[in-house]
Amino acid sequence: MVKFVFVTGGGLSSVGKGILTSSIGKMLQARGLKVTVIKIDPYVNVDAGTMNPYMHGEVYVTDDGGETDLDLGWYERFLDLNLQKENNITTGLIYRAVIEKERRGDFLGRCVQIVPHVTNEIKHRIHDVAKKSDVDVVLTEVGGTVGDIEGLPFLEAIRQMRLEEGFENTLYVHVALVPVLDVTAEMKTKPLQHSVNELRRIGIQPDTIVARSPKMIDTEARRKIALFGTIPDDAVFCSYNAESVYEVPLILDEQGMSDFICKRFGFSECKKDLREWRKFVDAILKPQHEVKVALVGKYAGLTDSYVSMSEALKHAGAACKTRVCIDFLEAEKLEQDKECAEKLRDYDGIFVPYGFGPRGTDGKITAIKFARENDVPFLGICYGFQLAVIEFARNVCGLKGANSTEIDPNSANPVIDLMPEQRGIEIKGATMRLGAHKILVEPKTSAYSLYKNEEILERHRHRFEVNLDFSEILRKNGLVFSGKSSDSRRMEILELPDRFFFFASQFHGEFKSRPGRPDPEYYGFIKACLDKKQKKHKS
Ligand code: GLN
Repeated sequence: MVKFVFVTGGGLSSVGKGILTSSIGKMLQARGLKVTVIKIDPYVNVDAGTMNPYMHGEVYVTDDGGETDLDLGWYERFLDLNLQKENNITTGLIYRAVIEKERRGDFLGRCVQIVPHVTNEIKHRIHDVAKKSDVDVVLTEVGGTVGDIEGLPFLEAIRQMRLEEGFENTLYVHVALVPVLDVTAEMKTKPLQHSVNELRRIGIQPDTIVARSPKMIDTEARRKIALFGTIPDDAVFCSYNAESVYEVPLILDEQGMSDFICKRFGFSECKKDLREWRKFVDAILKPQHEVKVALVGKYAGLTDSYVSMSEALKHAGAACKTRVCIDFLEAEKLEQDKECAEKLRDYDGIFVPYGFGPRGTDGKITAIKFARENDVPFLGICYGFQLAVIEFARNVCGLKGANSTEIDPNSANPVIDLMPEQRGIEIKGATMRLGAHKILVEPKTSAYSLYKNEEILERHRHRFEVNLDFSEILRKNGLVFSGKSSDSRRMEILELPDRFFFFASQFHGEFKSRPGRPDPEYYGFIKACLDKKQKKHKS
């Protein structure tokens, strides 16, 4: 019988529920158990695709083209899974399905209500994932905080699941912040107590509580959390501030959390093995070298906008025994302020990430030009790829006003243009070119030496692409398109063979990067940053 773990959070958002859920999954995997994870997002959007990354963080793209919450990225990275659209459930998705069923006549004669129709739809989707993925444990993280209006139908659904699945097959984990006061250094458990009360008011008694705290909770705090949470002392765990998020499974495991869960589910026989994970964590924590990377972006004020990219850079760093220090530079500042552009000299590598719309593009192009002219290792992803084409067209091929029609619809030289199949699309939700597509890699290129494969599958999220009318002039001037779609119609990878490392892709390698198995383009970039730095020091 499949087991269900439900993770809720209280008090305030961003207490690290995503990392906690991933860490519980990791501890269970380390026992040889098969797990999958569902993220519930109580907002009314059908998916995360139409949300601004500056407010909500990046949109994570799954193989099947789902535009999902960034927590799916944490699950995939921690658990080395390839999840699907259905692993992200939103209010919008649930209501849309219920309303469609109502219109079809599935509930004829009945009044359609939150309980049971909406809650049944939620449970049905959780069960569906459980069935399809054939796992031992399904972890479900409920986004937002307990008590939010939007979250109530989801909490009601998971409350009912205890009745239906039985005590021995369900586990409620609640996490809340335990702040430490600056003045008295006292640990404050009251906010946590309140959120547990709120959860109980809804009808859920947590089985275990995780205190999210700056440091390890003391005995007094543990005793209080246990007493007011009505759980034994040994069901209280603490997720304290760590140098790296990848330490969290080790921190919780040391406190006995996986023993607790396994005992509860009757998995105690399963031996645990976290050696591989520990090895990766050690590589992250004890680097021998360091490189500084400038990430020139439009959403630089919110690092969550680029979380998969930063993590992919770190995975690549760990593989090169290198700490990757990332400075998030606001692209717009770079276009207005010459001194800021001069600062680019301080970096071992320049990285230009994804993006949408004209804002900040001049600054990104300035950074790309700087990288090309000064032979600083460069990696461009998606918009970064398109802007590298524009920079090359303008400054090497001499194509005046070369641009993307996304930035200048009247450009005389539209080297980047809307994909033909995108013309006429007016609906914005889920209509980009999304998900995994096959790419053919040209032998004897940098791309080939990185991927060691003539065929790769990579994830996409874009509407624009290289305009084939210009591919010949770009090629003649030295730009190599070393990766193309299987019909050769789309340019997918570019490189400049006469530079130390100048590489960009239309796809997003970061979504496939995993601890211990970095993505090739990110690895190539960090390795180049390090090699170039060491070469510079020697000369
Ligand atoms: N705005 C560009 C496009 O739609 C790039 C998208 C991206 O960087 N993900 O094609």
